[in-house]
Amino acid sequence: MDTLPLPRNIFNVVVLGAGGVGKTSLVTRFVKNEFSDHYNPTVEDLYEKPIHLRRGVSAMLQVLDTAGSYQFPAMKRLTLQYGEAFILVYSVKDPASLDEALKLQQEIYEAKGTEDVPMVLVGNKCDLTSGTDKRIVSHAIASTLSRGKNCILAETSAKYDMNVSGVFTALMAQIALAHSNVVSSKKSKGKKRNATDCAVS
Ligand code: GDP
Ligand code: MG
Repeated sequence: MDTLPLPRNIFNVVVLGAGGVGKTSLVTRFVKNEFSDHYNPTVEDLYEKPIHLRRGVSAMLQVLDTAGSYQFPAMKRLTLQYGEAFILVYSVKDPASLDEALKLQQEIYEAKGTEDVPMVLVGNKCDLTSGTDKRIVSHAIASTLSRGKNCILAETSAKYDMNVSGVFTALMAQIALAHSNVVSSKKSKGKKRNATDCAVS
């Protein structure tokens, strides 16, 4: 007898971007609802947060917060292969960080062999509106430069908790969609499905 796919219950997300753009701040805002003005460079940290998918169905979100730079290309390759979904962060006050995020986007597409990868490009620090620290990168510019079948563009402030959970919600929706596409393409090939089709990753 053909079995229904089991709901996936672990989703992994990798957060990438230049140093200092607010990757850790976004993750800690989302996972712990905390923010610090202090800059403490990250090596690599894994966070987990239980999430509610729909009535009666929950899952665990695993978020890998990275340093933003890789000394060894092999480590970077491994990280890109590990992630099933990506948050690429730049700072709206730093155009070079957008270039870096777009370079990473291209590297992800090359590592995955497709542009069909759940991804959100995040312009963080959108609270900076005046003085020497104010925004330089407009939403329109980032939108023109970003590409990819599934790349959503969002602006956030980890500091003031603006749109942070929206980024993760949008990403979860993309993961769910990608997953349902895999299941339906397997179905249409007439393959017999079993529990391993939806194995916990
Ligand atoms: P990471 O290196 O990308 O992980 O960056 P961090 O999360 O460590 O943040 C770097 C610095 O930017 C820290 O001093 C944070 O307090 C600050 N920061 C992070 N997010 C925001 C934000 O949304 N607005 C403002 N104004 N500062 C932020
Ligand atoms: Mg960090």
